[in-house]
Amino acid sequence: MSHRVTLIPGDGVGPEVTLAARRVIEAAGVAIEWEEAQAGAEVFKRGDTSGVPVETADSIARTGVALKGPLETPVGFGEKSANVTLRKLFETYANIRPARQIPGVPTRYDGEGIDFIVVRENIEDLYAGVEYLDSRDVAVALKIITRRGSEKIIRYAFELARREGRRVVTCATKANILKLSEGMFKRVFEEMAPEYPEIEPQHLIIDNVAHQMAKNPAQFDVIVTTNLAGDIISDLASGLVGGLGFAASGNYGDTVAIFEAVHGSAPKYAGQNVINPTALILSSVMMLRHIGEPEAAQRVEDAVFVTLEEGEAVTADVARQAGDVERSTSTSGFSDAIIANLGRAPSLRYPGKSKGAPAPSPEPRPRWVVRSVAVPDTRLIGVDVYTEQDGPAAPVGEALQAIAGPEFKLLLVSARGTVVYPAANASIDTVAWWRCRFVAAEDGADVDDGAILRLLDRIGQRMSWVHVQKLRLYGTEEGFTRAQGQ
Ligand code: NAP
Repeated sequence: MSHRVTLIPGDGVGPEVTLAARRVIEAAGVAIEWEEAQAGAEVFKRGDTSGVPVETADSIARTGVALKGPLETPVGFGEKSANVTLRKLFETYANIRPARQIPGVPTRYDGEGIDFIVVRENIEDLYAGVEYLDSRDVAVALKIITRRGSEKIIRYAFELARREGRRVVTCATKANILKLSEGMFKRVFEEMAPEYPEIEPQHLIIDNVAHQMAKNPAQFDVIVTTNLAGDIISDLASGLVGGLGFAASGNYGDTVAIFEAVHGSAPKYAGQNVINPTALILSSVMMLRHIGEPEAAQRVEDAVFVTLEEGEAVTADVARQAGDVERSTSTSGFSDAIIANLGRAPSLRYPGKSKGAPAPSPEPRPRWVVRSVAVPDTRLIGVDVYTEQDGPAAPVGEALQAIAGPEFKLLLVSARGTVVYPAANASIDTVAWWRCRFVAAEDGADVDDGAILRLLDRIGQRMSWVHVQKLRLYGTEEGFTRAQGQ
């Protein structure tokens, strides 16, 4: 049976690694009709600010599978990441990054049996990319975590653990500080864990995960985490098992999956035929399992492992680590060696926890999508208004106190999260960005939209406000955080 796959060569070293992967897949005897498509730097240069042309999106929607080289993203300015756009356009919510010790790849952890999978939420969090300059000097980014998004990725992690016979799923969050956003992720994890009684649920704070990962990485099995944390710890994980040259990944959604190496476009090596193509070839192995070619996937993975184990062909990154750059093999030469080894088996396949070939992606099922959650009574009890005056907090607080009534009273003013009015003991630097919290003048009463609009009108006559956030109660639960020092 022939498969259709969208092939995006990408930027920098992308064309070299995608060519290597394509040659190996074809040599393994898998019939694929490739639909070549563009995304990234060249597309931006043509003036398409999305970085992903309609034809490329159409091709992926048609094939449902893409193999993609890295795409360049301007850092600190310019267009949005075409990588993130691709992941979001198709709601590929699960970013799966295995970290398994690979035969023949020397690491500091040799023999410890590292074999875990980072399951990273791929759509939400700070990668929603919703940012504002509230003033020239104050940048704000929204960290968006939804119950639905959390549920989908946590379900994915538990199902993956079940299919691979893994024992522990670790939920890694920063819920000690971000009690509502990361806290929601943790709560959903705790709600869903009882559905998987054979799996031990564990929660660790993400900074401790980083510490434990450096100290004793073999303890981990499956780690499920939010987008930014997952991005960082999965790169850390790839460093434990040989580096970015070996780190594969798949982005899975309900209708589309996109496979790519974890590494970027490595521009300094572009066009030199020296880059290690293993990461994208192992991503192709994940792709072959996904499209229902498990035998071919095994053949390719075995050939990669044999080649690495025997060490007769080594790419420059590995040769450098061994202090012997002279004997390094080119990208194309290394791919030739893998092709020559197709049909051979390595001496050691899966020493780790999965005890067998990694499972293909689980099939999404309707019950994955929504669980009903009782909606508690919602009350509107106040509003935070952000203003931007220079100078100390007291005059801002006094002015707002005077105009709050009769419907509101000013509860506090905080600067970067810490109370500065009424008088606080904090000795902090303040900036021209005040969070001014108003609640109903009558203790415990509700407020309404009309009252908020009248308040904004009064504030606007005295000072500049930059944004507004309603304060709600869900049942008895506060839908907002208190200020530091409140
Ligand atoms: P990078 O391209 O991943 O390269 C960083 C370093 O990692 C390289 O200089 C090299 O280290 C090593 N490396 C990367 N790929 C390797 C491979 N296949 N074999 C051996 N070593 C490899 O990261 P970056 O320089 O931070 O980012 C460059 C561009 O790529 C940026 O525009 C970034 O936004 C983009 N990017 C794209 C993706 C994606 O498409 N998914 C992911 C990450 C970054 P040495 O210098 O030590 O040899």
